[in-house]
Amino acid sequence: MSHLIIYTDLDATLIEHTTQDFTPALPMLKELNRKAIPLILNSSRTVPELLHLRKEMDNRHPFGAENGGAVCTPVAYFSGPQVALDHEIKIDYLGLNYKAILEALQELKDLHDFSYIGTNDFSVPNLAEETNMSLEMAIKAKSRVCSEALLWLDSKESMIHFEGQLAERNLRLIKGGRFYYVISKRADKGGAVSWINFNFAEAHPSDSFFTVGIGDSLNDLPLLKSVDLPVVVKPPRGEALNLAHPKAIYTEQSGPLGWVEGVEKVLERLKL
Ligand SMILES: [Mg+2]
Repeated sequence: MSHLIIYTDLDATLIEHTTQDFTPALPMLKELNRKAIPLILNSSRTVPELLHLRKEMDNRHPFGAENGGAVCTPVAYFSGPQVALDHEIKIDYLGLNYKAILEALQELKDLHDFSYIGTNDFSVPNLAEETNMSLEMAIKAKSRVCSEALLWLDSKESMIHFEGQLAERNLRLIKGGRFYYVISKRADKGGAVSWINFNFAEAHPSDSFFTVGIGDSLNDLPLLKSVDLPVVVKPPRGEALNLAHPKAIYTEQSGPLGWVEGVEKVLERLKL
């Protein structure tokens, strides 16, 4: 028996980039629940942000936070039937801890005077204003465990230098929709996909799984490359990602409308 699992990015795909709205996707979210197709959120957002959003989406599945730095699984998800929405969550850390990353960043700033603002430097009201989030969500966005989000204010040349310095400390820079993320070299959204796939396979050894990934930006590449069928949602600005996968799906619309379009095309193609 083969089961479909959908891994999805959030910002500028399932969630509108500027308004944070995902209401156009609600009927499809309901439909996936009705069809018992697991929708796995795989985002650069933090654990508390994702716990909040998945509740609003009535999503009871595991999820990847902070670009794959942390994978959260409702306890008993892989051993029992349907779990409650507020079920206790177990976190597996696939990256370095936040304190170690902030220490490395401080050391680099002292040595090289790079110019950027990190989430740690933002006050809650300033972060809320910058991201168009509520104060409550900005508090959650500052609650990080394994990556730092930053707005780069320096030159491109400095960024190349910065990336070289990060590499010497087993860190790297990932570009998201709005922020850059400093994260462990060994963590990315593809790692979260492998981790969760492994758990599905182990829990259901006689079943096979067909995986779909949905994303719009560079930090989604590891996710899109780790699945059987990638879906590229048209980004709000700039060129869409161009994948080598011969059967990749590209949407014409962006944001939640593009996300719905992509999922519809997947269900149609798989006759589900
Ligand atoms: Mg995105």
